[in-house]
Amino acid sequence: MINYCNLKDINDRYEPALTEAVVRAAQSGWYIRGKECGSFEQAFAAYCGCKHCIGTGNGLDALTIILRSYCAMGAMEPGDEVIVPANTYIATILSIIEAGLKPVLCEPEATSCNIDTTLIESLITERTRAIMPVHLYGLVADMDGVNAIAQKHSLKVIEDCAQAHGAMWNGKRTGSLGDAAAFSFYPGKNLGALGDGGAITTNDTQLADTARAIANYGSHKKYTNIYKGVNSRLDEIQAAALGVKLQHLDSDNERRREIARKYIDGIRNPHITLPVADHNGNHVYHIFAVTSPQRDKLQRHLMEHGIETLTHYPIAPHKQEAMREYSHLELPVTERIHAQELSLPCHPAMSDNEVQQVIEAANSFTI
Ligand SMILES: *Cc1c(COP(=O)(O)O)cnc(C)c1O
Repeated sequence: MINYCNLKDINDRYEPALTEAVVRAAQSGWYIRGKECGSFEQAFAAYCGCKHCIGTGNGLDALTIILRSYCAMGAMEPGDEVIVPANTYIATILSIIEAGLKPVLCEPEATSCNIDTTLIESLITERTRAIMPVHLYGLVADMDGVNAIAQKHSLKVIEDCAQAHGAMWNGKRTGSLGDAAAFSFYPGKNLGALGDGGAITTNDTQLADTARAIANYGSHKKYTNIYKGVNSRLDEIQAAALGVKLQHLDSDNERRREIARKYIDGIRNPHITLPVADHNGNHVYHIFAVTSPQRDKLQRHLMEHGIETLTHYPIAPHKQEAMREYSHLELPVTERIHAQELSLPCHPAMSDNEVQQVIEAANSFTI
């Protein structure tokens, strides 16, 4: 059986350093916002090419805290609008709602599955304050396009980097391509912790200071609260583990790209559409997403050949029960992606032999 993702195999490759780091944190006697968190924040900021990194409890909180910080700074107020791709994971949209703002859903491009920059301007109103591109599946969104529109209309750009740690755009890394960025270190992400974790990166010192306080009960100084904050911090054990794994992120992403190249070169089936090939480091293949009009049948076929696949995601956000007020929207490109997408196993602990088995099983699919 080839599992979609095998966290045990993935994390075993970092031993014994991973366990040593966890034990060091456990024995330090300091568990929240200590040395481990500080040194990971520094290392991750440097890696992304940003001045600041603030660890948070998870990726959703990182997004929400950025928006809450802009509200606290007076750059946004309740009811303001944020443009977001309609086919993202629902967390992106929930963060906007949680911050008291209004998500405005934008269709993606059918090929890249990232926000369609040609449609953004038609969604801008006098309440629009930000664009929140998502580097979905690990492919960087068209940041030149997004930034040009943002500059023209004085909007903030907040990257959702939860699926694209380490991906590059014109020689710069995700996390440094807009005004602020949010990362998730959920265990299955390209840079995954041993539990929940997240981070904000930015070059904006005022935003960084505000976000650091808001993530800590709205406080810079113990028992002095200047904002109505939340409690969302990256703990020492997660930070220690992430510090070890960060050193291998580039080689892990290179292995993902190598697997993706093998799939793109090897899968030849008229019923399967492959993702656009990328050789510039713009794609870190968090998800190797193919599409097929016979998606469910393809998934069953692969399962019969011992290959586990997933769908990202089975239900579009505007079709979720939780998002009833958006259910009237017609978003055909988004809906087609959700109906046809299938994610093949693609993680750095896969062997060449397993990759070959996936290719052969995909090529033997008929309808
Ligand atoms: C995983 C993910 C998130 C949320 O991250 P958590 O750490 O699980 O809160 C947000 N956006 C996208 C696109 C994601 O894939």
